[in-house]
Amino acid sequence: MSIQPPLYEDLGPAPAGVCSRWVDGSPCGAIGTHHVIWDLEMYNGCVCATHCEEIRQNWVYIGLHPYEAACAAAGRSFWRPGEDRCVLPDEDQDKSEAGHLTTARTT
Ligand SMILES: [Zn+2]
Ligand SMILES: [Zn+2]
Repeated sequence: MSIQPPLYEDLGPAPAGVCSRWVDGSPCGAIGTHHVIWDLEMYNGCVCATHCEEIRQNWVYIGLHPYEAACAAAGRSFWRPGEDRCVLPDEDQDKSEAGHLTTARTT
């Protein structure tokens, strides 16, 4: 059994702001409420309330926090491990401990 859901990198970056949980061949697409950070490579995804609950119960992750503007700026924003939140580059004082986000679709 895997500790994380499969990531569908070949489908390209997931759209911002909507749940990227892949269900029966298409994305969930519901309004995203939470941002999950899967691992230190900064694979992450936007999830709806339902799928956030599913993640809490089934998978291992390193960050799970309310989805905000900085979360949507994948490729520009950074995740702060100690605080479990995303920050935009102009807010970011210490880039050494933060990682760039790579948004991927998950199942
Ligand atoms: Zn969903
Ligand atoms: Zn975030």
